[in-house]
Amino acid sequence: MAEYVLDKYDRPMKDLRISVIDQCNFRCTYCMPKEIFGDDYSFMPESELLSFDEIVRLVEIFARFGTEKVRLTGGEPLMRKNIDELIYRIKQINGIKDVAITTNAVFLVRQAEKLKQAGLDRVNISLDAIEDDVFKETNGRGIKTKPVLRGIEAARDAGLPIKINMVVKKGMNESQILPMARYFKETGDTLRFIEFMDVGNHNGWNLDAVVSKKDIVQQINEEMPVEPVDPNYFGEVADRYRYKDGAGEIGIISSVTEAFCSSCTRVRLSADGKLFTCLFASEGYDIREMLRTDCSNEQIISYLIKIWTKRDDQYSIDRAKGKPVDKKIEMSYIGG
Ligand code: SAM
Ligand code: SF4
Ligand code: SF4
Repeated sequence: MAEYVLDKYDRPMKDLRISVIDQCNFRCTYCMPKEIFGDDYSFMPESELLSFDEIVRLVEIFARFGTEKVRLTGGEPLMRKNIDELIYRIKQINGIKDVAITTNAVFLVRQAEKLKQAGLDRVNISLDAIEDDVFKETNGRGIKTKPVLRGIEAARDAGLPIKINMVVKKGMNESQILPMARYFKETGDTLRFIEFMDVGNHNGWNLDAVVSKKDIVQQINEEMPVEPVDPNYFGEVADRYRYKDGAGEIGIISSVTEAFCSSCTRVRLSADGKLFTCLFASEGYDIREMLRTDCSNEQIISYLIKIWTKRDDQYSIDRAKGKPVDKKIEMSYIGG
C-alpha cells in the first residue's frame, strides 16, 4: 500500500514526468529556438543520461509514495534507443496504472505498434498548425505536417488513445486555432490548446504573445458551439469543453491566465537525473549522484520526503502577482 507524502499545500506526488533525452529533431521556436540550439549545440552524452535500470529503480521508489502515472518526455522521447523496453519495465511496477508519452510523432510511424505492445497506455502528440506554411516555421526545421499526421495515423492504427497538443503563440500560429479545431473535430481526436508559457530563458516570452483561454474558447464557440465539462480527476490540467453537436471535445491548458498550482501533483526528472518540483524551478536536486554513489533506497526515500514536504512551489500564481524569477530551466531539458 502506497504511503502518500504531502507538500506544504497538501499536494501528493502522483504524476511523475521523466525526460529520457534532451535531443530533438525539431527546433520549435517557443521551446528550442534554432538560434540557441544550433548545429554545434552540445547535448548530453549518453553516459549523463539516466540508464533504464536507474529510471526503473526510481519509479519503483516513487510508486511507494502513491505515484500512479508516468509520462515519458524529452527532448524527443522517441529518439531514445529502445524506449519500448523502458515502457515495458515501468508497466510491470506495482502501483503504476498509466504510462504515457509526449512526442512530436514523427517517429511513431516506425514505433507505434511496438510501443503499444510494450504496454503504452496513451500518447500526446504536439502539432501547432495544420497548414504547412505555418508549421514549417513553428518547428524551426521546415518540416511539413505530413510526417506528423502519418504518425497520428500510426498511433490510431495501433489502438493508442491520442490527444493533440497545440501551443498557441500570438504572431506565430493563432491563425491556426480554427483550422486545427475543424480538422480534429472531424477526426474525433481531442485537441488541447496550451497557452504559450515563459519556460526557459530563450523563447522571448512576454505576456502580449499569450493568446488567453478566454479568447481561444470564444473563437471556437462562435463557429462551433461548446460547453464546459467537469474535470475527470483532481489535478487535471486541461479545462474541458464539449461540442454541443456531440462531435467530441477540446481542452485548454491555461497555465498563464488561470494558474492551477493548487492542484499540481507533478514531479519531474530531467534526463540526467535532476528532480524538479516545478516547471519553473531554477535548480533541481541531484538524484543521479545518489544512484551512482551506492546510496540505499532508504537514503533516497528520506531525501525525497525531505524535498517534497518542504515543496511550496506555485510559480504561476506568483507570476500573476508579478513576482520575478531570475533563471529558469529549459523546457527541452525538463520535458514539459
Ligand atoms: N518533443 C515532445 C513534444 O514536443 O511533444 C516532448 C517534449 S516537449 C518539451 C513537451 C510539451 O511541451 C509539448 O507539448 C510542447 O508543445 C510543450 N511546450 C514546449 N515549450 C512550451 C512553451 N514555451 N509553452 C507551452 N508549452 C510548451
Ligand atoms: Fe522538440 Fe518538443 Fe521542444 Fe518541439 S516542443 S523543440 S518537438 S522538445
Ligand atoms: Fe505546478 Fe509549478 Fe506549474 Fe504551478 S507553476 S502548476 S507548481 S509546475
